[in-house]
Amino acid sequence: MDKTEALRHIRDEVVGLKNSPLYEFRLENGYHAVLGEGSHDARIMFVGEAPGRSEAEQGRPFCGRAGKLLDELLAGVGIPRGDVYITNILKDRPPENRDPLPEEIALYGPFLDRQIEIIGPKVLVTLGRYAMEYLMRKYGLEGELEPISSAHGTVHTVSGLFGNVTVVPMYHPAAAIYTQSLIPVLKKDFEVLKQFYGVR
Ligand code: URA
Repeated sequence: MDKTEALRHIRDEVVGLKNSPLYEFRLENGYHAVLGEGSHDARIMFVGEAPGRSEAEQGRPFCGRAGKLLDELLAGVGIPRGDVYITNILKDRPPENRDPLPEEIALYGPFLDRQIEIIGPKVLVTLGRYAMEYLMRKYGLEGELEPISSAHGTVHTVSGLFGNVTVVPMYHPAAAIYTQSLIPVLKKDFEVLKQFYGVR
């Protein structure tokens, strides 16, 4: 099975995920599940929290206001959006954009795990606290967990079965929309990614 087919299987499973607490909400609003988009051979994968309204309406990750900022941050370091893969932990929008519940993370997390396995990125950029906590734990980095205010922009490398994987926590772009002083912080943190882009 090739990568596209394997990812399509995940999509089909998520679309039919009737046991999700967010399934009815998706249907009632005519929303889409948001699986992710980008290169299936991406070296860098961005993992956000959950789709917002624009994302659920369009079925695409980071296509609203936070996405516009993400696009600018990528452009600032010369990385084309199409060269990375962008996804979230939750694949459905929570009502009122509330924080993900532990049971939602437990339900959707394994789909993210499979996406990582299929795409095989070298660098996982976590956007916000939930993605940071989920992925740092997944890679046995819980001992290095710190509040996002000190963890942002730090580089954590673990050796895995298929080579090294690096986790780089960053602030969520949505946080920088509300707290504009975080924009230069994000811009500076994105500079870290230049060293990984183009390196196999
Ligand atoms: N916020 C997220 O965490 N993910 C998106 O896709 C959009 C906004």
